[in-house]
Amino acid sequence: MPRYDFRCRSCGDTFEVNRPMAQSSDPAVCPSGHDDTVKLLSAVAVGGSASASGPSPAPGGGGGGGCCGGGCCG
Ligand SMILES: [Zn+2]
Repeated sequence: MPRYDFRCRSCGDTFEVNRPMAQSSDPAVCPSGHDDTVKLLSAVAVGGSASASGPSPAPGGGGGGGCCGGGCCG
């Protein structure tokens, strides 16, 4: 779910809101209860093909490296 940054113009606080993209333009209420907030441009990755993120375990592993350290090689 995308995360959006908001800034409250009443108290100047900035906060983050996790919401569906369909509600990205909806107004947000700051943690202090103010509704005079503006949405900030954040570095949310939208679009592109960067759907897979983070390292994935290599296939075919036999239980981790360090084989020669466990005595299985000799
Ligand atoms: Zn506020």
